[in-house]
Amino acid sequence: MKLYNTLTKTRDEFVTHEPGKCNMYTCGPTVYHFAHIGNLRSYIMEDILEKYLRYTGLEVKRCMNITDVGHLSSDADTGEDKMLKGAKREKKTVMEIAQFYTDAFFADCGKLNIKIPEIVVPATSYIPQFIEMVQTLLDKGYAYIAEGNVYFDTSKLDEYYVFNKHDAEDLAVGVRDGVEEDLAKRNKSDFVLWFTKSKFEDQELKWDSPWGIGYPGWHIECSAISVQNLGEYLDIHCGGIDNAFPHHTNEIAQSEAYLGHKWCTHWFHVLHLNTNTGKMSKSSGEFLTVSLLEEKGFDPLVYRLFCLQSHYRKSLVFSWEGMESTRTAYNKLVNRIASLKLDDNSPVDEAKFGELKQRFSDAMDNDLNTALAVTAVYDVLKAQTNDATKIALIRDFDTVLSLGLLEAAAKVKKSAEAEAAARAKAAENATLTITCTSEGVDADTKAKVEELITRRAEAKKAKDFASADAIRDELTAMGVVLKDAKDSVSWSM
Ligand code: AMP
Ligand code: ZN
Repeated sequence: MKLYNTLTKTRDEFVTHEPGKCNMYTCGPTVYHFAHIGNLRSYIMEDILEKYLRYTGLEVKRCMNITDVGHLSSDADTGEDKMLKGAKREKKTVMEIAQFYTDAFFADCGKLNIKIPEIVVPATSYIPQFIEMVQTLLDKGYAYIAEGNVYFDTSKLDEYYVFNKHDAEDLAVGVRDGVEEDLAKRNKSDFVLWFTKSKFEDQELKWDSPWGIGYPGWHIECSAISVQNLGEYLDIHCGGIDNAFPHHTNEIAQSEAYLGHKWCTHWFHVLHLNTNTGKMSKSSGEFLTVSLLEEKGFDPLVYRLFCLQSHYRKSLVFSWEGMESTRTAYNKLVNRIASLKLDDNSPVDEAKFGELKQRFSDAMDNDLNTALAVTAVYDVLKAQTNDATKIALIRDFDTVLSLGLLEAAAKVKKSAEAEAAARAKAAENATLTITCTSEGVDADTKAKVEELITRRAEAKKAKDFASADAIRDELTAMGVVLKDAKDSVSWSM
């Protein structure tokens, strides 16, 4: 499989440290607010990546952190702690906020068919591991203490800017945000490993450490959680493109300084989802959520398809019109699948199966071309083969795409069948309208004739044609002339 690697800036053949196994790390959400659908674009694409790696036969071990401490409003270690900001906004404790938004994140993942990694670690549960890593960095001379905080000394590295060259402008993010620059740093690119003195309000969550009571920097959490759970050699690390600098750059600096060797070989970054007014921002509170999509009547899986239709390395602009047309496409696809014999037990055409599966794999092997992988589903529907083969292929592709295609098709089929049954029942229960077109027929005769006509209709419905004919004969003998129509009978005498 060829997969773009932000580290080498090329589409590399994806090779793991240990053949057949893959260690995968994902930067998890900062749980001070709901995830926006931009964040979830990253998680959808990372989910597809994990599932495809498994599809190719790799045994994937995946770990994700939950950032519940240390992420400041500027990624460059300045500003207010995001968790504290969320807690103040909602007048709750940081841990209450963390639990609430972690649960909300997992609920959103469930709706989008995003598999939750088997190892999920909240940063606050790993404080001793962070302290051990920071101590080792100090012992090895990669870190220093200044004004009570512990900093990573980037001047100790041969190369700090591993992803891209950066200038002072990038490092002055905090200054741009209107926050004072941290003058305790020896180099502009140094970053905090452990805070004891913050330049802003006191922290709610604090722990004892060899350097005083305080709390960890944001970047250390991913390095420590990854090394602890996935070992010294990481095959792939994922995140949104904004994570590349400074977060991932700092993760590489501290992990490799700690381990004494190269750490992660492949870096997978998802470009942003934007709106036509620009970037979505969790901190400003102006963003789109899964609940909002649902309120507007969209199945979250339509958003998943919306994401899959474009390449992860291109920015994607969200629009409601785009969602509308994706919904139309999704429904058409599901309806076409529903028109297949879903319970076809005939043997699968193995040759055709292999040929169409190859098309899907070729698309995914080509730097995760999900748009082309989706068109492979249409190729299956158009193919000259039996329904059993088509269904087996769609089931196979959907282990990766996770669009719930067969489930949705079964639902469509079930509701079409229920509708047809309801129509038949309605027709069955339709009341018979009986009209007399003659003048002056007395009430007793009318009642008698109507009763016979009703009994005749019931006999016909019960397919008891002998009785129906006998009743007709009786009516004829009374001088009644019948005129049958759908759901009505008119008579005269
Ligand atoms: P956060 O909760 O802010 O820590 O971000 C969670 C994940 O979402 C990270 O991997 C970010 O890089 C990613 N992310 C943030 N904004 C966007 C966006 N607009 N589009 C795609 N991914 C994003
Ligand atoms: Zn991270």
